[in-house]
Amino acid sequence: AHIDAGKTTLTERILFDAGAKERAGSVDDGTASTDWLPEERSRGISIEAAATRVTWAGHELQVVDTPGHVDFVAEVERCLWVLDAVVVVVDAVRGIESQTRTVWAQAQERGLPRLLFVNKLDRVGADFAATVASLEEQFEIDVAPVVLPLHDAAGQFAGLAHALTGQVQWFAGAPTAAVRQQIVAVLQRGHDRLLELAADADAEVMAAVVGGQRVPAERLQAALRAACLAGRCAPVFAGAALLDRGVDWLLDGVVAWVPAMAERARTGMWATAGAGDPAAPFAGLVFKVDHRGEIWNFVRVARGRLRPGDRLERQRGARAVAVGAVGVVQADRRRDVQVAGPGEIVVLVGELGLRTGDVLTAPGQPVLLPPPRFPEPVLAAVVEPQRTEDSPQLLLALRQLAADDPTLRVDHHGGVLLVRGMGELHLEIVADRLRQRVGTVFVLGRPQVDRRAVLGGPGRGSVELRAAIDGAERRVRCAVELEPAAGNAPAEVVDQVGGAASAEVVLGLGAELRHGLSQGPLVGARCRLVGLEVEGGGAAELAALLASAAGRALHQALAMAGVVEMEPEVAFEITCPEDGAQPVLADLGARGAVVQSVHGGRLGARIEGVAALQRMLGYVTKLRSMTKGLGRVSLRPSGWRSRSPAGSA
Ligand code: GDP
Ligand code: MG
Repeated sequence: AHIDAGKTTLTERILFDAGAKERAGSVDDGTASTDWLPEERSRGISIEAAATRVTWAGHELQVVDTPGHVDFVAEVERCLWVLDAVVVVVDAVRGIESQTRTVWAQAQERGLPRLLFVNKLDRVGADFAATVASLEEQFEIDVAPVVLPLHDAAGQFAGLAHALTGQVQWFAGAPTAAVRQQIVAVLQRGHDRLLELAADADAEVMAAVVGGQRVPAERLQAALRAACLAGRCAPVFAGAALLDRGVDWLLDGVVAWVPAMAERARTGMWATAGAGDPAAPFAGLVFKVDHRGEIWNFVRVARGRLRPGDRLERQRGARAVAVGAVGVVQADRRRDVQVAGPGEIVVLVGELGLRTGDVLTAPGQPVLLPPPRFPEPVLAAVVEPQRTEDSPQLLLALRQLAADDPTLRVDHHGGVLLVRGMGELHLEIVADRLRQRVGTVFVLGRPQVDRRAVLGGPGRGSVELRAAIDGAERRVRCAVELEPAAGNAPAEVVDQVGGAASAEVVLGLGAELRHGLSQGPLVGARCRLVGLEVEGGGAAELAALLASAAGRALHQALAMAGVVEMEPEVAFEITCPEDGAQPVLADLGARGAVVQSVHGGRLGARIEGVAALQRMLGYVTKLRSMTKGLGRVSLRPSGWRSRSPAGSA
């Protein structure tokens, strides 16, 4: 869900209610188990996904709390890669927010069933009905309210009603007779609605309804559940995580609605042959590597059994992996186990050379699985140590941080240390962590937006150079061709000259061309060295002349092809008080943003559009000051666009 919807609070309550913790921690005073990083506790936000296990009604549940900030969307992606269902948490006051939509789409794409938890019903302005209506409208799915909020005579959130079982929880005292009548009506309406949805989804239920027969609750749930597993329906649970309202019924719901391994659509990790079979050769997926003093490699078992001391194979590079201790995480502690089977999430302890996306198998039993997909980082910042001699130490620490953050890149060129990440918050957090790891003083430069260039079309260049060397006339000629290629990998250089010159010379020219292409840098292009002539001497002594000819030929080819500079674009979604919208819109105009829609609503104005990322740096702070702290914005990378003059400020 979106940041602040209450995911971590809910997770904390789940740990407490399921008996994994003696006291529920709180994000507000920095004691939540799943927000265990110092950066998370001090900021009150989740940065990394955290997996933990609880037992509920005789079932083992594996809960993974994820961050809601768009800079950490890769954390969500890696979890969806291995999980079976998601609980989407929605703030009953704020409704659906941009990140909720992103996560919803990620889950849908992976075919994961979704359960909804409408949270914060205790807050002033909470509106369950409006939230459900907008879920239905925006997600184009049947939303089945299973647990409904109840209100007392004063309109306060005072209880919950279960539309399937007819049970009621009343939080304090007893409802008045008038309220009692209302509760009966809420239950009746709720049940009718579920019946209607089930009849739509299931011909048998429809027949029973038409025939005037009573449909038992189990039958009703089975029909809705089948629709949920098929991605056509999502059950809704109501509550307030902070006050521990509705968390028990949500957990019952998880047990009842989430698919068992055998029912799971054969997608993702369950597409593995023999997935779910404990007797099959072992296969498991590494979806996270944490450094918590000791290294925890989080693995979800797809098939077979895993024991401490096992010898496995890492598919990447076919490397042997010797398993040490195997544990499960409860709250924030590790408990060692002697065996783990299909479906379980375990940690393998120690440095095992693993990283996210690795597949572990029994030796010689490979498994084919598409790896998780991570977005490309788009923002770069220079890390500048006060003393240059500290640079290697910083580089090492950064490489360690990047080892299991697929969206963090570290570059070191000509003495300049550069980090690339997903956004300003991401880079800030990286700098914080770096400070904790090394004693070195450094500054993080102003973030700069990544640039790249693509070819406008094909191009060709051929250059002949003559020079008098050691009193003799020498001549060289070099010809290159450029051609756009699919994808956005760095431009590649292909040698098509073959035996015309020594391998060493061709290698040297390749380096020269690659250097020329790295300006921009040019992506999605192929550069062919198609002609090479050398007259009046050995090629080796003419290397400098040849390099110069190659450089000029490339220049010609680039001019002919036309180079289009590209820059990253972001989609924004801004909410602010309606009377504060004018200055916000004017400011967006000044930034060259394209506003696509402006809606007025219960929560003020909602403005959506796209802009060059470069022009939106620092926007969070600016918006806050423009709206007296009431405006909120979420920026989501939305690809690359050609750089317009307006975008080059
Ligand atoms: P996350 O970003 O989705 O993990 O959200 P958090 O769990 O960090 O919660 C964000 C804020 O909302 C915190 O200040 C919580 O105390 C508060 N919060 C969470 N659940 C509830 C709730 O049910 N009612 C109220 N009033 N506040 C809540
Ligand atoms: Mg959180």
